[in-house]
Amino acid sequence: MTAAPTSTSKTLADLDIEVPAPGSCCSKNKAAPPATPAPVTRPGSEPPGPSQTLRLDVTGMSCASCAGRVESALKSVPGVRDATINLALERADVMAGTTVTAADLVAAVEHAGYGARPRAEDPAARRAANERAEAENAAEERRTLLILILSALLTLPLVAQMIAMVTPLPVHLSPWIELALATPVQVIAGARFYRGAFKALRGGSANMDVLVALGTSAAYFYSVFRVLNDGMAAQEHLYFEASAVILTLVIFGKLLEARAKRSTTAAVRTLMALRPETANRLGDGGVTTVAVSELRLGDHVLVRPGERVPVDGTVVEGASELDEALITGESLPVTKTQGSEVTAGTINGSGALTVEATALGEDTTLSRIIRLVENAQSGKAPVQKLVDKVASIFVPVVVVIALATFAGWWLATADFEAAMIAAVSVLVIACPCALGLATPTALVAGTGAAARSGILVKDISALETAARVDTVVFDKTGTLTEGRPEVTDIHAFDGKTDRLLRIAASAQMASEHPLAHAMVRAAEAKGLTLSRPAKAEARVGEGLVAEVAGEPVAIGNAALIDSLGIDHFTADTLRRQMEEQAKTTVMVAIAGRVVGVIAMADRPRDSAREGVADLKARGVRAQMITGDTQTVARAIADAIGLDDIAAGVKPAGKSTAIEALRNKGAVVAMVGDGVNDAPALAAADIGIAMGTGADVAMETAGITLMRSDPRLVAAALDVSRATVKKIRQNLFWAFIYNVVGIPLAAAGLLSPAIAGAAMAMSSVSVVTNAGLLRRWKAKV
Ligand code: ADP
Ligand code: MG
Repeated sequence: MTAAPTSTSKTLADLDIEVPAPGSCCSKNKAAPPATPAPVTRPGSEPPGPSQTLRLDVTGMSCASCAGRVESALKSVPGVRDATINLALERADVMAGTTVTAADLVAAVEHAGYGARPRAEDPAARRAANERAEAENAAEERRTLLILILSALLTLPLVAQMIAMVTPLPVHLSPWIELALATPVQVIAGARFYRGAFKALRGGSANMDVLVALGTSAAYFYSVFRVLNDGMAAQEHLYFEASAVILTLVIFGKLLEARAKRSTTAAVRTLMALRPETANRLGDGGVTTVAVSELRLGDHVLVRPGERVPVDGTVVEGASELDEALITGESLPVTKTQGSEVTAGTINGSGALTVEATALGEDTTLSRIIRLVENAQSGKAPVQKLVDKVASIFVPVVVVIALATFAGWWLATADFEAAMIAAVSVLVIACPCALGLATPTALVAGTGAAARSGILVKDISALETAARVDTVVFDKTGTLTEGRPEVTDIHAFDGKTDRLLRIAASAQMASEHPLAHAMVRAAEAKGLTLSRPAKAEARVGEGLVAEVAGEPVAIGNAALIDSLGIDHFTADTLRRQMEEQAKTTVMVAIAGRVVGVIAMADRPRDSAREGVADLKARGVRAQMITGDTQTVARAIADAIGLDDIAAGVKPAGKSTAIEALRNKGAVVAMVGDGVNDAPALAAADIGIAMGTGADVAMETAGITLMRSDPRLVAAALDVSRATVKKIRQNLFWAFIYNVVGIPLAAAGLLSPAIAGAAMAMSSVSVVTNAGLLRRWKAKV
């Protein structure tokens, strides 16, 4: 017989990222542990009992030290084991004992001077909360923009005058006009910093608002004092332009930050917006439009042309082409007919479909993707923990440095004005706002861009590991190949091929192995009547022993036949011939004699060759590991341009092989579909699960590829490297201004206005640098 055309890659519905028990937030956490560090039990706190994760949306955090303060406020609530704050996403994940309530946490956050509310979990409430937050943010942004424009207009003449002092331009403002220009800026633009500083100080700590408020107030009030005292003669000693420029630039930085934060979280928001709220349910009375939350499993829904699919399900009627791009990153429409799996959130093309619901609401693939992406984005990089520590002690330290600068200058020169100006510069240049944004903006932008290309990163440690990978090991079956072998040749030594196939396929009805399925399909295609074996025992990585119609049957490779003490000399030449054509062979032994050989071919995936080449081009070693024979492995490896192969490896041996590579110093990524390779995925530095696989693979994998496209492996490494690189660059940009600026300012070499500009630049560099990452896209 000839091979039936192999089907295209498996559908999305085979996908399963995490398996939460519906409706319970605690079991959800078990299935997908949040990317938080292990719970810290402080001495004296209650012994760790059952715990829960409470999630809050936090408002009012403007910088890293704010995040630090919210974190310590939450941690000081009795019963709280750990708290993770994500500044970019404005949220907190709190691990706490079951006695802790969300209200306790909200109260603690509010006491610290910030706003909080429990994060809504069900999709409709979540969306409402998101929309509300977004409307608030948009209004806030408009207000900020207005303030910016106003401050800029008022500041401009002051700046012009400052320039005029060093050039022969005829700009001259009277001190009273300067006062009139600077005062509205100080009041309007300064208000939020005074407010923020007041809140922080009341809460018992200092933040960057304190630095801005202190610095600009010093410059402003000193100048006011001179104007009031000396009148027109004060000209030389005015620093109105310093305070006005600083405030204008800091407001400018805030605006950019707000924009950047909004666009970095766009990936998750787009995904959420995909979840339809209503569905057309088919019932006895025809079509009724109901809320998706009212649907039950097994309900039939009608998806009209152009509509979004409301549930995960199976097509029971109709045919159409679906746009799955937002889930898989694949831009070509995918044909769906009766029996095809469809995914909630995908867009129907021109045909109408009737779909039977197999997963609803929070259990759909889309909801799982959203949770996975959110989880990755709220995690905290090891380096970020250090940054937070630094940030929390930073402000007090800076205030001390500023005071020391002031005292030093005053004592040394007896020049109050110079001393004050140097201290103001120190306060302004030291703002650590960029520091708090450095990691989260890059992380959110990077993982969001990855998700858009169908690459889901579990957490930041997966990202960091993926960036260091130098060796990629591919499982053969289902990963480099389609994973759907078809029977190509049947050789019965007695010529009775149908009988051979019937007995073999009957025995294989007991097995879930892809080869077993191939034999059963081939037998069914020939119309053979099969009967379940009376007894059957799988030999992992070797084959199967069974009893069919009272006779002992063994089907499998040489290892199996050898272990039964059966001679297979007669089959060996034939096997070799088949294997050289990249066909997997199994021998069939009946009643202690090998009676024939069945050969099966599994097509390499179309993009496997390119995927391997992509890795090589990046200097990454690619290797194939398989339980199949050396000959078959070699033939397939040659077809796709792979050099390294490890053949004849039993499932358990795969993890050993991975460990051996790691012991030699390689950073190993294992790519598999999870059918018998979950242990290997777990043994690798990072497991990459290819989207068609089993649930268990998704759980052990650090990265999940939503499409079975080997080219996505190189893309996943790329986006990880790019994100990690961005995080490093951002930390550099955040620190360099402070590191260089503080000593310069203390030495009196940096004017307050320039310090303000530098500080704003620091935030701007960080957010725009991270923003560049959003454009990343897998080139497949
Ligand atoms: P892979 O590494 O390609 O996933 P496996 O470890 O699952 O391969 O299987 C290795 C070999 O064991 C197969 O190539 C086949 O020769 C034999 N084998 C395993 N299961 C069966 C089965 N149910 N029937 C026949 N042969 C089998
Ligand atoms: Mg396999």
